[in-house]
Amino acid sequence: DLVTFDEFITHWAADRPQRIAMREEDRLFTYAELEERTARVASALRAAGLEKGDRIAWIGKNSDLYFTLFFGAARAGIVMAPIGWRLSPVEWAYIINDTRAKIVFTGPGFDAVPDQLAGKLDHAPRIVGDTEARALIEATPRAPFTPSGPDDAVLQLYTSGTTGNPKGAVLSNRNLFALRKNSADADLAYTKWDDDEAVLVAMPCAHIGGTGLGIMALAAGLPGIILAEFNPDGVFDAVEQHGVTRFFIVPAALQMLLLHPRCGTVDYSRLKYILYGAAPIPLELLRQCIKMFGAEFIQAYGMTETTGTICMLPPEDHDPEGNKRMRSAGKPLPGVEIRIIGDDGQDMPAGAVGEVVTRSSNNMLGYWNLPEATARTMTGDGWIHTGDAGYMDEDGYLYIHDRVKDMIITGGENVYPAEVESAIYGHPAVQEVAVIGIPDPKWGETVKAVVVPKPGTTVEEADIIAWARERIAPFKCPRSVDVIEALPRNASGKILRKDLRAPYWEGYE
Ligand code: ATP
Ligand code: MG
Repeated sequence: DLVTFDEFITHWAADRPQRIAMREEDRLFTYAELEERTARVASALRAAGLEKGDRIAWIGKNSDLYFTLFFGAARAGIVMAPIGWRLSPVEWAYIINDTRAKIVFTGPGFDAVPDQLAGKLDHAPRIVGDTEARALIEATPRAPFTPSGPDDAVLQLYTSGTTGNPKGAVLSNRNLFALRKNSADADLAYTKWDDDEAVLVAMPCAHIGGTGLGIMALAAGLPGIILAEFNPDGVFDAVEQHGVTRFFIVPAALQMLLLHPRCGTVDYSRLKYILYGAAPIPLELLRQCIKMFGAEFIQAYGMTETTGTICMLPPEDHDPEGNKRMRSAGKPLPGVEIRIIGDDGQDMPAGAVGEVVTRSSNNMLGYWNLPEATARTMTGDGWIHTGDAGYMDEDGYLYIHDRVKDMIITGGENVYPAEVESAIYGHPAVQEVAVIGIPDPKWGETVKAVVVPKPGTTVEEADIIAWARERIAPFKCPRSVDVIEALPRNASGKILRKDLRAPYWEGYE
């Protein structure tokens, strides 16, 4: 059984040398070329003095160069840490300092990085631009190297920083190919691949929803089509012209596809599956997508610390005619254990909300440099505490309410923002909505909705409240509604609730 990058790459290079492995715009690499180029990367890094366990970093958009460097480093056990290009230079420096990277590679268009980082680093990594990196790969002859083992670290992915500073989740070969193994063991139609498929990498490579899709293509021995950055035209072109049969995007990106004028006229005939997840999806948005796209939908639930997907909601549970399971994040994949625990760590019965905890070979090795956070998140017997609130139904389907931390307690009742947002989202004047708790002398907190109106409409507070009252219990309904131009989101498309809450909580927290 194949477990490491070195094994997968050498296997496909022998099995299908002339098949396309990667494509970005007009640059194509076959599996034979991928094998040769990644061997050269491993050789070049070793020749530069890097050893197993050393870190390198990447600042740039998605690129075939990134995947070549990452896969090559991984073959030799050198750990890649991709950094979100949308972050500020101060945030780049924070992550580079945290990794202690020996080399920082930059992508096309990021030649100013050395200047932007000047004076901010506490060590002196080499900074290598994309032209130099490509030249290095061309010029370095391959030399023997010792491949990394199944449980060696190969990727350090920073969490999205939705709840605080991003943390470096250290992932091994075994972690990164666990999804492939879990799905193969599951023997489910939607986790099997036909030989003529191709996968789109549309989300940023600094997140598991980006890098993980590149790994998915490699694991299946199929082409990974790389989009430098998400944009609706890029997705539509990839589907119509490059034979993409599956992609993963976040709910906010699905909404951007729907709002795009081309959306209704694209030929979706080759598209099989749209995977979505990483944040709660409003039910109404999901219904609209199912109507629009001629593809089957799969929801994915997971986190950076679990190397992405641990639960999937299969296509057959996406019945827009009121199937209650459309609100579920799905069933644990085989090999994945999930429990719901209460405040004292006790198992909660079906239907009762608690914290989601999980154990599987997806679980990271630990957080880099954060022994205390690692000990809080990973208990001794291998369980990860997700920080998500949720429940399991009688049939083993997981329902994610929200982060434990985002729960609003109003007059002793627990309210989960995602449920309220989902109810309000369907209102005709609402483009986007976020729900937070604000301080209240009588109730502790009350529910506030912050709404982005659809262009050309106005949002009336009383109207939104009345709309919600027809759909959810009165204690869950907003007491007040504010209008905002755009919601604060991070590069993963997640609402930064802490930023939304800040002005209301000044002087309280
Ligand atoms: P940080 O840990 O730095 O605060 P983050 O938790 O947003 O950031 P990620 O690892 O990218 O960083 O995201 C994992 C989280 O995303 C999960 O814990 C969960 O809250 C949310 N999530 C993922 N998939 C889903 C889903 N299908 N439905 C609802 N929420 C989801
Ligand atoms: Mg998290």
